[in-house]
Amino acid sequence: LNPLIYQPLNEKTAIKKALDLKLFPEDADLTCKEIGDGNLNLVFHIVDQKHNQSIIIKQALPYAKVVGESWPLTLHRAKIEADALKTFGQIAPDYVPKVYYTDDQLAITVMEDLSHLSIARKGFIQGETFPLISLHLGEYLAKTLFFTSDYGLGSGAKKVQVQKFINTELCKITEDLIFTDPYFDAETNEFEEGLRPAVEELWKDEELKFHVNVLKKIFLTDAEVLLHGDLHTGSMFADNQQTKIIDPEFAFYGPAGFDIGQVFANLLFQIIVNEKHRDVFIQHVETVWNVFQVQFSQLWEKENKEPLANTTSFLHYHLAKYFEDALGYTGCELIRRTIGLAHVADLDSIQDEQTRLAAKQKTLELGKNLIKKRKEIRDLSEFIRTVKEIV
Ligand code: ADP
Ligand code: MG
Ligand code: MG
Ligand code: MG
Repeated sequence: LNPLIYQPLNEKTAIKKALDLKLFPEDADLTCKEIGDGNLNLVFHIVDQKHNQSIIIKQALPYAKVVGESWPLTLHRAKIEADALKTFGQIAPDYVPKVYYTDDQLAITVMEDLSHLSIARKGFIQGETFPLISLHLGEYLAKTLFFTSDYGLGSGAKKVQVQKFINTELCKITEDLIFTDPYFDAETNEFEEGLRPAVEELWKDEELKFHVNVLKKIFLTDAEVLLHGDLHTGSMFADNQQTKIIDPEFAFYGPAGFDIGQVFANLLFQIIVNEKHRDVFIQHVETVWNVFQVQFSQLWEKENKEPLANTTSFLHYHLAKYFEDALGYTGCELIRRTIGLAHVADLDSIQDEQTRLAAKQKTLELGKNLIKKRKEIRDLSEFIRTVKEIV
C-alpha cells in the first residue's frame, strides 16, 4: 500500500497493513472482520489467534456509509478523530481507547480493541445498567471540558487548539440534522405516521423554533471547550467496571453544554422506555451532573490559568450556563432522535406500536419543555421534577 494514496481497506489489505506496521509478531495468525455498525466509517477487527492479541483499525470513507457515494464527506474527519482521541486520552486516559498508530492520508486510526466491553446503548436495551457509567461520564466531562477551555489551557494555547479542530463539514451535519431539519418538513426527516399530528404541531411552534435558533447560535459561536460532538450511548463502551468513549469525529470547539446534553438525553431514553430500571437511570442523570459539578469546580480552583477568573461567582456563572445550555441540547437531541434522520434503538426497537408511539410522544413533549423552559429549570432537582412530570 502506498501510504500517500488513499484507498479504502478491505479485510485482506487491513491484515497486510497491520503486518507492515509490525503491530503483531511475525508469526501471528491473523483474521480480520469488518464490524462497523456506525453510519459513517469502516471498522476492522484484527485478531492474532496465536498470541491472543487484537486491534481495531478504523478508516473513514470519502462519503457517508449509510447514504453512499451521493453524500461525500471529508476524510479530514479521521485526523480530527485521531487528534481528539489523543487529546482526550491525555486528559482522561481511563476513559479513552489507546491509540497505537494514525495515518491522515489513509484516514486510519489503529486503536485498542474494546470488544470485551459492550456498546452502552445495546447493553441498556438488553437490561444492563452499568452502575459506574455515570460516575465515569461525570469525571470524563469535567476533565475534558475543563482542560480544553481557556481556563485549563490558557487563552493562547486554547486558540491553537481551536484552529486544529476546525471541523466544518461535520459541524454542518449537526447544524442540519439537530438544529434545522427536524423543525420543518425536510426530506431527511423520518417518522412514523402515528406521530404526524405531534410533528406538525412542532413545526408550527414559533416559540420552540425561536429557542432552537438560539441554541443553534450558541453551538455556532460559543467556542468554549473541545467537544466530543457525538456523545451518545452508541459512542460508549462499558461493563460493570469500565467506561470508554469512542468516535469523536465530530469534535470541535463549542459550548460545553452540548456534550452534557447529549449524555443527559441518551440516558433519558432509558428513563422513558425502561420502566424496570427507571430509578437507576434517573440516578445516572443525577450522578453525571453531581460528579461533573464537583470535579469541574475542583479543577477550576486548582488548575485555573486565569487568576482573575478564579472566583466562586465566576465558576457558578459557568456551571449555570453549562446547565442551561445542556437542558436545551438535551431537548434538541430528544427531538431529533425521534423524528430526524438518525434514530435510536432505545425507541425504535419497541415492538408494540402503541407503547412505541407513547414513548415517542413523551420524548417530543419532554424535548419541547426542556428547550423552552431551560432558563426556569434552575437546578438538578427541578430538572428531575420536569422529567418525572412527563414520564
Ligand atoms: P462510526 O463513526 O461509523 O459510528 P464507531 O467508531 O462508532 O464508527 O464504530 C462503529 C462500531 O465499531 C462500534 O459500534 C463498535 O461496534 C465497533 N468499534 C469501534 N471502535 C471499536 C474499538 N475500539 N473496539 C472494539 N470495537 C469497536
Ligand atoms: Mg458494535
Ligand atoms: Mg459511532
Ligand atoms: Mg462516528
